[in-house]
Amino acid sequence: MKLVDHWQRQIRKLRVSLTDRCNLRCRYCMPLHPNFMDKHSYLTPDEYVDIIQELLTYGIEEIRITGGEPLVRPEFSEIMLKLSMLSIPQLSLTTNGILLHQYWEILKKCNVTKINISLDSLQPKTFASITYRNSLSRILENIRQAVAQGFDIKINVVLMRGINDCELFDFIEYAQKLSVTVRFLELMQIGYANELYDHHFISAQECINQLQTRYRMNRINSVSDSTAFYFELDSGVKVGFIASESQPFCNSCSRWRLSADGRLFACLFIEKGISIRNISSETRHHIYEQLLGMKPIQRSAHVLRAMYGIGG
Ligand code: SAM
Ligand code: SF4
Repeated sequence: MKLVDHWQRQIRKLRVSLTDRCNLRCRYCMPLHPNFMDKHSYLTPDEYVDIIQELLTYGIEEIRITGGEPLVRPEFSEIMLKLSMLSIPQLSLTTNGILLHQYWEILKKCNVTKINISLDSLQPKTFASITYRNSLSRILENIRQAVAQGFDIKINVVLMRGINDCELFDFIEYAQKLSVTVRFLELMQIGYANELYDHHFISAQECINQLQTRYRMNRINSVSDSTAFYFELDSGVKVGFIASESQPFCNSCSRWRLSADGRLFACLFIEKGISIRNISSETRHHIYEQLLGMKPIQRSAHVLRAMYGIGG
């Protein structure tokens, strides 16, 4: 059975959270003193394998490992090595990049070639004011190393008015210098970001308008269920936008999310997930059908649930 809903959307991508813990405290994502899950409630490496192995038979083709920060999970290597035995068509990673230098060999061994690295500022002070940590130089060095080793890198920037929007052009130059793709994410009304939204939201179209004052931007095709749309500049640099607020992509969304404690979420903008642990595959089958029915065709305006708890 394939996971196809009433609107003919097929679920073929799964975001898998390894932990809700993190070594940064991005203001829009988590508070300074978060209430984390009990570590004992995290899915074990074998539970990840069982769940993902089953979902592959339902047509899941892409697994993106995320969190929290996936690289702070002590069993990261074990989980990745076990998952890499499952012949997942595409296994990729989203990370803040701080610990990447410890994992090059594991990532290569597991055939992870695509890595999205979040980086909201190139300025040490602004970086620290967003993340409450001074990790910028480590991240920049790891991005340099990742590119040198041939990983396919996308830099994800959550652009916020009055905070880092003055770096729009700097990010283009940075991406050009490193030959990486840069993507600007609209601030989404999720959890702690709700407090920032009114003052700091900036739309993708406003960024595009600004960029067009300096560059010719040629729209390029992306796959139909991509969350991002892309342009190529004359210099060859690729610039993407994830405009979840101003141009939601619900009608082509193909994603579910698995939280670190084993709950499946049909949509980022749903408050509650359904636990799929310690139950028979027959019961899980019914839950999958239930989740297909829970996926909205139009996202809700905002959710209170914090982003780090579900896996971004
Ligand atoms: N820690 C990893 C990282 O930062 O890449 C993975 C998890 S993080 C939740 C995944 C992505 O979600 C990051 O690119 C982060 O910037 C983005 N994100 C978190 N909260 C967001 C929000 N309210 N609006 C837009 N993007 C958000
Ligand atoms: Fe951590 Fe990623 Fe959330 Fe930032 S966005 S606090 S790096 S989980």
